[in-house]
Amino acid sequence: MHDGILYTGVPNRQELKNAPGIPAADSIGAGGTAFIECLQTIACNPCEANCPTGAISIGAQISNRPVLDAKKCVGCGTCVSKCPGLAITVIARKRDDATTVLSLPYEYFPLPSAGDTVAAVDREGRFVCDANVLNVKPMSAHQSTSVVKIEFPEEYTFKVKSINTFHWRSNNG
Ligand code: SF4
Ligand code: SF4
Repeated sequence: MHDGILYTGVPNRQELKNAPGIPAADSIGAGGTAFIECLQTIACNPCEANCPTGAISIGAQISNRPVLDAKKCVGCGTCVSKCPGLAITVIARKRDDATTVLSLPYEYFPLPSAGDTVAAVDREGRFVCDANVLNVKPMSAHQSTSVVKIEFPEEYTFKVKSINTFHWRSNNG
C-alpha cells in the first residue's frame, strides 16, 4: 500500500525524518522552535524572507526545501503566519508543569478565543487530547494567516498538529 505525502497528503515517518526543516526533538529552544513540514520542492520562500533571525535557508534555487538552523530560531512564530502552505508550527515546552505549547496556523472561522477548550488533533485530523487556547493572533494582526497558541500535556508533543473547533462551536453557538 502506498503512503506518504503524494498518495495520502500526510507525510510518512521517513519523509518527516528526512525533512531539513524539522529539528531534532532534543533541540527545542527555551522560547520554542519551528518545525517546518515542507516536504515537496515547490517555488516558495516567504518563510525564509520573513524570518527575523535568518534561521531558515532556501537558497538561490527557490524550489529547494527550507532548511532550519534550530540554533538561530527564537520561536517568534512569524514563519507560522507567513507560510501559505500552513506547513509550519512552533513547539515550546513548559517543563515545570509538563505541558507543551504549540503555535499553529489556522484559517477557519470563527476563530477560538483564549480560555477555550478545543480538540487537539494529529496530522490526519484524529482526536489526540483536549487543549487549552492560550492566545489567538487573527490574520489582521500580521496580514497573513491567523496563529492559535494551545497548551496540552507534553506526552503528546509530537502528535498534535492542529485543532478541531467543532466542540467549541457546539458549546458556544
Ligand atoms: S519561529 Fe521565528 S525565528 Fe524561528 S524560524 Fe520561524 S520566523 Fe524564524
Ligand atoms: S513558506 Fe511554507 S510552503 Fe513556502 S517554502 Fe516556506 S515552509 Fe514551504
